[in-house]
Amino acid sequence: MKYFFLDLLDFFLPRFCPSCNQKLLNNENAVCKNCISSIELADQTRIDFEYNKKFAAKKNISGFTSLYVFEKDRELQEILHHFKYNKRFKVGITLGIESAKIRRQIISDWKIDLIIPVPLHHLKKAERGYNQSVYIANGLSKTLKIPTKERSIKRIRYTESQTLKNIKDRELNVGGAFSVRNKKWIKGKNILLVDDVITTGATISECARQLLNHGAEKVYAISVAIAD
Ligand SMILES: [Zn+2]
Repeated sequence: MKYFFLDLLDFFLPRFCPSCNQKLLNNENAVCKNCISSIELADQTRIDFEYNKKFAAKKNISGFTSLYVFEKDRELQEILHHFKYNKRFKVGITLGIESAKIRRQIISDWKIDLIIPVPLHHLKKAERGYNQSVYIANGLSKTLKIPTKERSIKRIRYTESQTLKNIKDRELNVGGAFSVRNKKWIKGKNILLVDDVITTGATISECARQLLNHGAEKVYAISVAIAD
């Protein structure tokens, strides 16, 4: 019955893979199986290297993992672009489910109580229409059966686009950018912060600092991709 309905839907509204532009099969959700399985996973050596570079000194993030390496894969860049700017938000759910399946062991070692997507400022959210990290968090939450609370933390400062700044500038830029909405939700909890691409790590580290200041036990981080 489900497939009959999806077949019918596909007939009228065919869906396409954002990477290869082939028509999606009805058991494929947002990205075709071929494309998603062809993306090379981030290896543990690279993940450890990035953890040391981005998070180790500040001690806000207790552990970090990522699914892919951004610059290695043009298909991934294409998928993430569609996801971020072309309202292909279902791609985020698929990427969240993939992350959960592939990084299940390490996340289970961290004993996570709550998953929180890194928030966008409401003006940025209005401009884009949605927060892409919420969809990744939902895919993770559904697969791992760990609750997610999107509204636990709020972005209170509109920070300009960070693409051209170096790490020191970026740290200054995000200082005080977040505020906790409800201490009770995070108190004593092990929290997993979720973002799409982690570049310098300054944003996610500042977010974690705020959660720890308000009583979170430990904060871990996961991203779909890491970038230099
Ligand atoms: Zn494809």
